[in-house]
Amino acid sequence: MDIVIDFDGTCVMHQYPAVGREIGATPVLRELIDAGHRLILFTMRSDRGKNRALSDAVEWFRERDIPLFGVQTNPLQRIWTSSPKAYGNLYIDDSALGCPLVFPEDGFPYVDWKQVRRMLVGMDILKDNSEQ
Ligand SMILES: [Mg+2]
Repeated sequence: MDIVIDFDGTCVMHQYPAVGREIGATPVLRELIDAGHRLILFTMRSDRGKNRALSDAVEWFRERDIPLFGVQTNPLQRIWTSSPKAYGNLYIDDSALGCPLVFPEDGFPYVDWKQVRRMLVGMDILKDNSEQ
């Protein structure tokens, strides 16, 4: 499955243009990769002049040994569309309707990865490992 994923508020806390702190995405993304899914980073971050915000996000994945199938686009979509929307079977984004969120006392809401993981198990995208 091709899974399109946002960065700020989704993989890390909102701290743009800095890379925010961990919020529990890393082990779940690792599980998705290990289960054979492909991740496509789809973010408003970009590299402009000295601003390396997009590269910083790509580096975040590299440091965690989480391969990205695409950045801002699904590399397979150009053969059938010129749309700027990245194609995927599933989108995980803190701004998406229905995305479970944590509401910290200070700062912006961010993705609740414990709940997202439960949802992915419920959708048969990840295996339930609760008895491990
Ligand atoms: Mg976001």
